[in-house]
Amino acid sequence: MAQGRRDELMVDGVLIEALAEVAKNAALLQGVLMRLQESPNTSELVSYAPLTLFPSPVPTAAFLQSLAVQTHFNTLVDKISRDADFLQEALASTIEVDDFTARLFRIHQHVLEEGRAQSIVLGLNRSDYMLDQQEDGSSSLKQIEINTIAASFGGLASRTPDVHRQVLKVAGKLEESQRILDNNPAKGLAEAVAKAWELYGSERAAVMFLVEENQRNIFDQRCIESELWTRNIPTLRKRFDDVSETGSLDQDKRLFVGGLEVAVVYFRNGYMPQNYVSEQTWAARLLMERSLAVKCPDISTHLAGTKKVQQVLARPGVLERFFPDQPGVVEQIRATFAGLYTLDMGPEGDKTVAMALGAPDRFVLKPQREGGGNNIYGSEICRVLQGAQGSADRTAYILMDKISPAPVQNYLLRRDGPLRISTCLCELGVFGAYVRHGDVMVLNECVGHLLRTKSSEHADGGVAAGVAVLDNPLLV
Ligand code: ADP
Ligand code: MG
Repeated sequence: MAQGRRDELMVDGVLIEALAEVAKNAALLQGVLMRLQESPNTSELVSYAPLTLFPSPVPTAAFLQSLAVQTHFNTLVDKISRDADFLQEALASTIEVDDFTARLFRIHQHVLEEGRAQSIVLGLNRSDYMLDQQEDGSSSLKQIEINTIAASFGGLASRTPDVHRQVLKVAGKLEESQRILDNNPAKGLAEAVAKAWELYGSERAAVMFLVEENQRNIFDQRCIESELWTRNIPTLRKRFDDVSETGSLDQDKRLFVGGLEVAVVYFRNGYMPQNYVSEQTWAARLLMERSLAVKCPDISTHLAGTKKVQQVLARPGVLERFFPDQPGVVEQIRATFAGLYTLDMGPEGDKTVAMALGAPDRFVLKPQREGGGNNIYGSEICRVLQGAQGSADRTAYILMDKISPAPVQNYLLRRDGPLRISTCLCELGVFGAYVRHGDVMVLNECVGHLLRTKSSEHADGGVAAGVAVLDNPLLV
């Protein structure tokens, strides 16, 4: 066998194929699982969740920076959710043209007019970053987005460290194996849910996971659920349909679904237009939002995570509105912002269009959507912006600087996928959890991380979309 080929297949004398087998078996043993695409609603057939063979290098300073800023992002999201004037102003142009955001906004307004029934707020979010490669070879932590609804993979990420530890041990890299970080977002997320449940104050009331029709990623959610079981907190898994058919509020606005009182609604669904298949689905969302149940997130916090809000936050002076006496916090948050540009009608938006048309490869065009696969790149940016010329259609989008991380080499393990080395890009996520009771933050924490890695040929898409795979950082 030629030397080059051998290098590709061996690590310190151990066959890559043998290591891949170790990784897959360790993943199955640890519960790094997903149901199959062809049978997403049964656990009779499962496989390992896609993951890298090896951990990927992440610079220590950037990693620590991402952890350190997380509690400030928690505070920021919470403050935005309480600032009705800000949300109204920030989203005014978007809701003119984007029906989905407009409908969410109407629910938000409905709740404000009726008065919020519940003063307990539970936030579980994930702030995602890429490390932008600088000309001098260093890297700079840049936020891609913050997910304030249905942020996933905190469960499975709690179980991947042992997989990579085992692979590295078998590969004879004991020292590296010991450097894989502990990570347990499932526990931290569940602790916040448990806190909100406790404050709600009814032992019989359950935590309801509002889940999708397609439950392929059920084990990620079960990791959090099982943390609640150990605390003897009752849990339910319900779909929008279940809420439509069996949900109701009593005279105190307590939410009942299938006859059981719900203390906390944890949304793992409801972030995409496709999730709202009918008017009944929208009515179910409104029912939950109006209820006394603690919503994770509530509708205002959901809106705080929109890409339009992200763009507005990057404008001069806006962070200062939320942290008037804390220039250090403002600086820490702002340091993670990439260039973000408005496409509102007017001279500033016109300037953005001209800039994008002049160098489309430097930018990403983003609609108000979640879940991967919606962003627009390269010549497609020109097509969309030229098509929208002179019309308000462009205000459905924001423009963002494209982040270019340093590529790394790794093997992406997925069911029936070929075992070959790929040039990859990593995205680091950091989980935040907070609970507020009235005006008092009773819990505000950074509860763990998630590294996702994808082949560099894909511009967009997450793990659920079948593009990225689970990974672990190896700090360098
Ligand atoms: P979604 O809500 O659909 O997850 P994201 O903003 O996270 O939207 O974008 C999806 C993916 O597109 C990211 O995971 C990342 O791989 C890529 N991406 C998004 N923004 C940028 C950017 N500014 N530069 C480079 N890649 C980006
Ligand atoms: Mg994303």
